[in-house]
Amino acid sequence: MPTPTPSLYHDVAEVLISEEQIKRRVAELGARINKDFAGEQILVIAVLKGALLFLADLMRHIDLPLAVDFLAVSSYGTGTQSSGVVRILKDLDEPIEHRHVIIVEDIVDSGRTLDYLLRLFRQRHPATLHVCALLDKRDRREIDVPIDYVGFEVPDAFVVGYGLDFAEHYRQLPFIGVLKPEIYQ
Ligand code: 5GP
Repeated sequence: MPTPTPSLYHDVAEVLISEEQIKRRVAELGARINKDFAGEQILVIAVLKGALLFLADLMRHIDLPLAVDFLAVSSYGTGTQSSGVVRILKDLDEPIEHRHVIIVEDIVDSGRTLDYLLRLFRQRHPATLHVCALLDKRDRREIDVPIDYVGFEVPDAFVVGYGLDFAEHYRQLPFIGVLKPEIYQ
């Protein structure tokens, strides 16, 4: 029986990172975290909403005692340009003091969001603070932020899928892609 093509797929101009590539890389990142934090308990903090799928897959590769918390910050709204303003929409449920914290981000673009989060979390005195980002749009960086675990570098294009949206759509695509130009207009 032929597989029906969901209509969202018609809006995709190009697949930049396939489902298979993501699976392989996420498993590698999990293995590195297992090694680096062997013997420790970790707290994984996912930045909503874009890191949702990445977190769900990554944590299945982590074989350590692990707790999860969520943080929501303001992002691009419905456009594709950063406002440069970072606002906490939902703070963490738990204190992070003395804990081994890994921030899980979908994509680091200008670096403003991550810079803000790192500063905020450092004030709360975790034992250690690391960053795991699925995507790194390095060419667009305005603030130099440390990223300990990077899934993939991506070019300067607005990407969607695997948790990343355009105007809240396309998050469920299983790959990372770019949309046809007419969709963004
Ligand atoms: P930054 O503060 O580093 O400029 O931006 C970080 C946030 O902007 C990301 O967590 C993500 O929500 C959003 N963002 C940046 N680039 C992209 C992109 O190419 N696609 C999508 N969907 N969101 C992006």
